[in-house]
Amino acid sequence: MVDPKADKALSVAGPGESASEEIHSEVAIVGGGMVGMALAAALASNGIETCLIEAEKLPDLTGEAFDGRSSAIAYGSQQVLHGIGAWDFIAPEAEPIRDIRVSDGAWHVKGGDRGIASPFFVHYSFMDLPPGSVPGARGHDQPPFGWIIENRAVRRGLLRRLGQCDNLTHLSAAQVVELDLGAERRIVHLADGRRVSARLVIAADGRQSALRRMAGIGARELGYNHAAIVCTVTHELPHEGVAHEHFLPIGPFAMLPMTDNVDAAGKRRHRSSIVWTEDARVIPLLLKLSDAELGQEIMRRFGDTLGRVIPIGPRFTYPLKLVLADTYVREGLALAGDAAHGMHPIAGQGFNMGVRDVAALAEVIVDAHRLGLDYASLGVLEGYARWRRFDNLAMVLVTDGLTRLFSNDLPPLRLARDLGFFLFNKAKPLKRLAMRHAMGIVGDLPRLVRGERL
Ligand SMILES: Cc1cc2nc3c(=O)[nH]c(=O)nc-3n(C[C@H](O)[C@H](O)[C@H](O)COP(=O)(O)OP(=O)(O)OC[C@H]3O[C@@H](n4cnc5c(N)ncnc54)[C@H](O)[C@@H]3O)c2cc1C
Repeated sequence: MVDPKADKALSVAGPGESASEEIHSEVAIVGGGMVGMALAAALASNGIETCLIEAEKLPDLTGEAFDGRSSAIAYGSQQVLHGIGAWDFIAPEAEPIRDIRVSDGAWHVKGGDRGIASPFFVHYSFMDLPPGSVPGARGHDQPPFGWIIENRAVRRGLLRRLGQCDNLTHLSAAQVVELDLGAERRIVHLADGRRVSARLVIAADGRQSALRRMAGIGARELGYNHAAIVCTVTHELPHEGVAHEHFLPIGPFAMLPMTDNVDAAGKRRHRSSIVWTEDARVIPLLLKLSDAELGQEIMRRFGDTLGRVIPIGPRFTYPLKLVLADTYVREGLALAGDAAHGMHPIAGQGFNMGVRDVAALAEVIVDAHRLGLDYASLGVLEGYARWRRFDNLAMVLVTDGLTRLFSNDLPPLRLARDLGFFLFNKAKPLKRLAMRHAMGIVGDLPRLVRGERL
């Protein structure tokens, strides 16, 4: 049910309404992407006055041209989105992932149109998890691994949730250009001359985080020699909730199940989202192909499991880069989401890690606030950094390692990989652990991830 107040966030203050204005808040979150919005909803709905500052105009964030990606949102992240009150707005556009099939597709592309896919693949079925083994499953013995959702649908849902929140000021088209961490109250300066003062500043401004730089926090960065093509495709056969990942010599090729929709002629169509890693030099040529030609290229890599595949809508390309901030916190400042860690999308975990940051940081802040402690102090914030740093570092290393292991077509390595797949399929406890990892329910979980109240 949609709340009538739900569009409030779309009508918030834009730039230049009062250039000399100073806005006072308890927490200022810089960056109103998916991570910043989720954190704002978590804090504001728990009585912490929050100012969310976003450089883009809010309606642009949900436009078709802004972001063509869909995200695989793990079960644990869904629990967080539910806990902050956003899931009901997102759920109608979420397709459950019931099976995951990972294969070493190197032989497939080598064989051309009618080539042979690797006989060894890892198959995860949600039915393989023992009933009752998933925390917070709320009556479902077998919840799905996760859901595939268009990023713009996630943003739309989060905006609607923010529209219901008291204790929130949401600034749009407001770019932060300077940060002053020196005083007891931190000052964030906007490009239009306005200032926001807060006890705590949270940088959720993405991989290239300007706030990270302004705070003097360094980052390790590593570029990849490939980039990702992202587009939506329609296909003849239903996907049955299966997410496919083929490891090709240049990098992974993922076909992710989306909700069906209805085309302009009123015909129902099956849809999937493609994340296709390619040599950065080849991408401009691929993007120039007609829909039919690009569909052929997709089928050369993916095969005809879903029948004929045709791209629909705009095509996007994203550079891929690993970024790891040297530290997550300073007195009065915390980094969250891609501002703290940007990773390769090979395992679809970047946003999921950001959601776990949200759950942990919100828990640390809300608990300190309830106890009357200074949640902006380094001592409190270090609790968040300790909690999240290892998990994020491990995921960054795993995604980087997988990228290197699979972006290689040497025959002995390929054989070792396929043997690894074969043995992994036989080792049930290991496989179950990997499935629980994919669901985001392993480790020291924040309350929101466990399905509990903040
Ligand atoms: C091809 C691809 C596929 C992916 N697939 C998945 C997936 O399946 N699952 C998954 O979990 N993750 C996936 N990811 C990763 C995921 O998209 C990111 O981790 C996630 O979007 C990060 O969100 P964020 O809010 O931290 O940063 P961003 O989305 O980068 O948002 C940052 C926000 O800050 C704003 N901003 C920046 N600078 C300023 C400033 N100075 N002042 C004010 N505002 C500012 C920006 O306008 C932006 O809105 C994928 C990534 C790629 C590249």
